[in-house]
Amino acid sequence: MVKFLRMLAISAREGTATRKYPFESSLVTPEFRGRVDIDPAKCVGCGACVRICPPSALTLNYESDEVVLKYFIGRCIFCGMCAYVCPQDAITITKEFELATPELNDLYDEVVHTAVKCNVCGKPFTTVKLVKEVEKRIDGGDMSPLFNTCPECRRKLTARRVGSGVTGVSVE
Ligand code: SF4
Ligand code: SF4
Repeated sequence: MVKFLRMLAISAREGTATRKYPFESSLVTPEFRGRVDIDPAKCVGCGACVRICPPSALTLNYESDEVVLKYFIGRCIFCGMCAYVCPQDAITITKEFELATPELNDLYDEVVHTAVKCNVCGKPFTTVKLVKEVEKRIDGGDMSPLFNTCPECRRKLTARRVGSGVTGVSVE
């Protein structure tokens, strides 16, 4: 009984400690990290966010003429690493946390990029926007020779050239 009275006294002194959510607005602190928002205008499809994302909530999908950056909220742990590494400041960590939905598609977000295809194997391997961004950053230089061929084919071509140089025999 004494304990109960003591608790009543504390309660009267401290006031209400909880909120009548959802009838009152929720308490979201400045540090709170919610749903990730990707700005399609700023994103160049570099994939830095995909590589850093611990639970693979972000993926880059290479589909014929397109490179699609996909965000699956169901996997996101709201760590904020993607926003930290994005070189374009394309990612905002919002305060949004009311994410329940009966529609699975509501849990996905995507940014669609035009792909650059390899002139050797034909596979899409980067985005047109990324090539333009790199060209801009190296003072208008033409990056097309470098971005005509995918890294895998470039490695093979280089190995063939090196092999031919060492042995004097052309390697197919
Ligand atoms: S790091 Fe930024 S620019 Fe690169 S793919 Fe992710 S959102 Fe786009
Ligand atoms: S907040 Fe963390 S888990 Fe969520 S998409 Fe970004 S890096 Fe991945």
